[in-house]
Amino acid sequence: MITSFHPPARTLMGPGPSDVSPRVLAAMARPTIGHLDPAFIEMMDQIKQMLKTLFNTNNELTIPVSAPGSAGMEACFVNLVEPGDKVIVCQNGVFGGRMKENVQRFGGEAIMVQDAWGTPVDPEKVRAAFQAHPDAKILAFVHAETSTGVRSDAQQLCAIAKEFGALTIVDAVTSLGGIEVDVDGWGIDAIYSGTQKCLSCPPGISPVSFSAQAVARVKARTTAVPSWFLDKNLVMGYWGGSGKRAYHHTAPINSLYALHEALVMVNEEGIENVWARHEKHHAALRAGLEAMGITFLVDEASRLPQLNSVRIPDGVDDAAVRTALLQNYNLEIGAGLGDLAGKVWRIGLMGAACNQRNVMLCLDALENTLQGMNAPINLGMAAQAALATYR
Ligand SMILES: *Cc1c(COP(=O)(O)O)cnc(C)c1O
Repeated sequence: MITSFHPPARTLMGPGPSDVSPRVLAAMARPTIGHLDPAFIEMMDQIKQMLKTLFNTNNELTIPVSAPGSAGMEACFVNLVEPGDKVIVCQNGVFGGRMKENVQRFGGEAIMVQDAWGTPVDPEKVRAAFQAHPDAKILAFVHAETSTGVRSDAQQLCAIAKEFGALTIVDAVTSLGGIEVDVDGWGIDAIYSGTQKCLSCPPGISPVSFSAQAVARVKARTTAVPSWFLDKNLVMGYWGGSGKRAYHHTAPINSLYALHEALVMVNEEGIENVWARHEKHHAALRAGLEAMGITFLVDEASRLPQLNSVRIPDGVDDAAVRTALLQNYNLEIGAGLGDLAGKVWRIGLMGAACNQRNVMLCLDALENTLQGMNAPINLGMAAQAALATYR
C-alpha cells in the first residue's frame, strides 16, 4: 500500500530550490481560506507592498505570478513582444537561451549577443547590437546566471537600452533577495523572479514588476496577448489596486502565505543585511574551498555570492561525489550544465541556506568525500580558513 510521503531531511545547496525556512513552511500549513475573502485580499495587498520594497520600485503592476519563474519569464515576453519586434537577447548561459525561445515563439526576431559561459554580458557588444539594429524595441538579459554563477551589470545594460529608446526585460530569478536589485534606480521595465532561490520559499510563484512604460506598451498592442493566463490586462483585474477583485484564476493561497512570510522575514532582517549575509558566507565558503585547492570558474569581479561555480578537481568523478554527498551527508549541490557538465559544481548559498552551519557542513563533507576518492586536494585546511573569515 502506498502511504504518506515523508521527504528525507536534506540540506539544499544547489542552484535551487534552496532550504525553506521552518517559519515559511509553518505559514504554508495554515488553513486555506477563500481567494476573494477580505482577509486574503488584505494579505495580497501586503505582498504587493513588500514586493515593491524588495524590487525597489513604485510600479503599480508588481505582483506574484501564480506559477514558477519560467512563467514569470513568459509573462514578460508574451505581453511585451509583438510579431515582427526585434529584441536584443544576451546569452551567457542557459537562461538567455530560453529568452531567445520566448521571443521567437511570440513572433519576434531575436538579435543574439553571445558571451562565453562563465563571463558577464559585455556592454560593448550590446551597444554594437543596438547600433546595428537601432529599431530594436527591447533588450533582454539575465542579471544572475544560475547556470554559471555570473553577475552581469544590470545598471549599465539598462542605461544602454535607454540610450536607444528600448525597454528592458531582466531575469532576476536568482538575484532577488541575494544581491542588490534596483528596478526604479536602474530603469528596468519588466522583471521576473522566483520564490525558490534566494527567497527560500517552495517553488511555484514568480514575482514580477512592469514599469508604467511597459504597461503602456502592453496597452498599445495591436494584437491580442497570445496567452490568456498571463495576459497582464486580465491579471490586473484580479491583482489590481482598486480593491475590487474580479475572479481570474484561483490564487495558490497557501503558497502565497509562504511568500508573505518570507517577505516579512526579509523586512525583519533588512535587505542590506540580507545582501551582507550572502557576501559573508560566500567569503567563508570561498576561503575554505581555496584552502582545499579548489578554484572558481568566474572572475572575482562578477561572482555571485549565492551561486558558487567551482572547478571539479582533476580525475574526480562528478556524479560519484554528488551521490556520496547526498547519501552520507544529506547534502545536495548542483551539477554543471551544458558545456560545463562534468567540469564544475554549483554550490548555492541562497536565502535560508546561506548560513555558517551550511558552509562548514559543505566544506567538511566535500573534503571527506574527495579524500576518500584520493582527489588532489589539500587536507585539513578548509575549516580553519573558513572560520578565520568569521572572526
Ligand atoms: C531557476 C531559474 C529560472 C527558472 O525558474 P523556475 O522557477 O525553475 O521556472 C529562470 N532563470 C534563472 C536565472 C533561474 O535561475
